[in-house]
Amino acid sequence: MKFERPRGTRDFSPVEMAERACVEGGIADVVEGFGYARVETPMFEHAELFELKSGGDVSDKMYVFEDKGGRRVCLRPEVTAQVARMFASSLKVFPKPLRLYYAGPMFRYERPQKGRYRQFWQIGVELLGAQGSLADAEVIQLACECLESIGLEYELKVNSLGVLRGLMDELSVDSARQARVLGLIDKGDFAGARGLVGDTLLADIVGLRGSSRVLGEAGKMLEGYGKPVKALKEIEETAGILDALNVSYVIDFSVARGLEYYTGMVFEAGIEGLGAQKQVCGGGRYDNLIGLFGGPDTPAVGFAFGFDRLMEAARLQGIELKHDKKSVLVVPVNEQLTTEAARLAGELRRGLRGSGVSVMVELTGRKLSKSLTYASEAGLDYTVIVGDKELAEKKVVVKDLREGRQETVEVGKLGGFLL
Ligand code: AMP
Repeated sequence: MKFERPRGTRDFSPVEMAERACVEGGIADVVEGFGYARVETPMFEHAELFELKSGGDVSDKMYVFEDKGGRRVCLRPEVTAQVARMFASSLKVFPKPLRLYYAGPMFRYERPQKGRYRQFWQIGVELLGAQGSLADAEVIQLACECLESIGLEYELKVNSLGVLRGLMDELSVDSARQARVLGLIDKGDFAGARGLVGDTLLADIVGLRGSSRVLGEAGKMLEGYGKPVKALKEIEETAGILDALNVSYVIDFSVARGLEYYTGMVFEAGIEGLGAQKQVCGGGRYDNLIGLFGGPDTPAVGFAFGFDRLMEAARLQGIELKHDKKSVLVVPVNEQLTTEAARLAGELRRGLRGSGVSVMVELTGRKLSKSLTYASEAGLDYTVIVGDKELAEKKVVVKDLREGRQETVEVGKLGGFLL
C-alpha cells in the first residue's frame, strides 16, 4: 500500500528541522529576553471557543468533529483564544502584567498554496493585564527584534481599529455590520466596505497610509468625532514611543486583521517577494476577550508569527541558517575494538553533555575507509578512530572532516579537543 500525505500538510527532513530549530531557538531567545515565558495549550478545543470571537475567516476554516463522547471539538486554528480561556480560568491569579509565548502547529482548512497550509506553525506572544501605548509598543518592538535577529528585511504596518470602530460607532453601524466592514477592509475591498457603511469618511480614512504625519491628516478629517479622535491619540502615543525606540513603521489605516476580537492597535509585518502570502506576522490589542470568556476584564495585546513563512522568507533573502552544533563518529579499526569504541563514545557523551556536541558510534563493522566516507557524506565534523597502537598509549586519532586534518589526541583531553 502506498500513502500520500494529506493535502496541505508537509514532512520536514532532518536538514529542514535543523533550520527550523535554528529560527525557533533564535525567536525564543529574543522573547525570553523580554521576559515572556512559554505556555502550551491543547491541540484540540471546544469549537465554540473560537466560534465566539475569532471571526468567520478563522472559524469557517476549522477542522470540527464530534468526539466519541458526542462533544463538538476542533483542531486549534490559533492560540490567542486559548490563552484568553486559560487566563480567565487559571492564570488570573498571577501578578500582572503577565508575559506569555507559545509555539506550535495550527490547523485551518484552507486552499493550500505556497505559504498557506492546512497544518502550519505559529510562534506568538500575549501580554496580559497591561493597558496603553507602552504595552502596545513593547509587542511591536518585540516582533521587530525577532525579525531582525533572523536577519530579515520586512515592512511593518500599524493601525488602530479603535479609530475605525469608533468612527463606525459614531455613524451608528452596529457591531455585526462593523465586523463585516472590517472583514471587507482586511480583504482590500474598500468599495464594499463603503457600501456597507454608507458614508465616505470611513473610506477616506482607510485610504490613508504613510509616516506618522498621516495621523495629523486623520485628526483633521475626524474633527468633531469623539471616539475615533481618542483612539487616534493613543496610536499617536504608540507611534511616538516606537520612534523613540528606533522602530520603523508605516501607519496604514487599511490594516483591519481577519480576527474579530481586536479592539485597538493592530499591526502586521510583511516581506516582499513572498507573493500573495507575504504577511509573516499579525497582532493587536484585544481588551474584551478575557471578560467574554468569564474572566475579569483584562486588557491584552499580542501577535503571532507565521513560522513557515518566516522560513520561506529566510530562504528567499539568502539567510544562512546554521547551528554551530558539532557531531562526532567514533570508529573502531577492527571488530575487537567495537565495545571499547562504544565505551569511549559513552564517556565522551557524558563529558560533553550540554555542549551541543553529538557523539555516535560506528555500528556496522564496515571497513575504516567506508566509515570515513559515511561520516563525510553525512556532514559530520569529526571521526575519532580507535586503534590498538594508539589505545595502548591512551590515545586516539581524531580526523577533522571539514579541514581534512588528523591528529593524535590523548583520550583524557579528547572532550576539550572536540569543543
Ligand atoms: P492569524 O492568526 O490569522 O492572525 O495569522 C497570523 C500569521 O499566521 C499570519 O500572518 C501568517 O503568517 C500565518 N498564517 C495564517 N494562516 C496560515 C496558513 N494557512 N498557512 C501558513 N501560515 C499561516
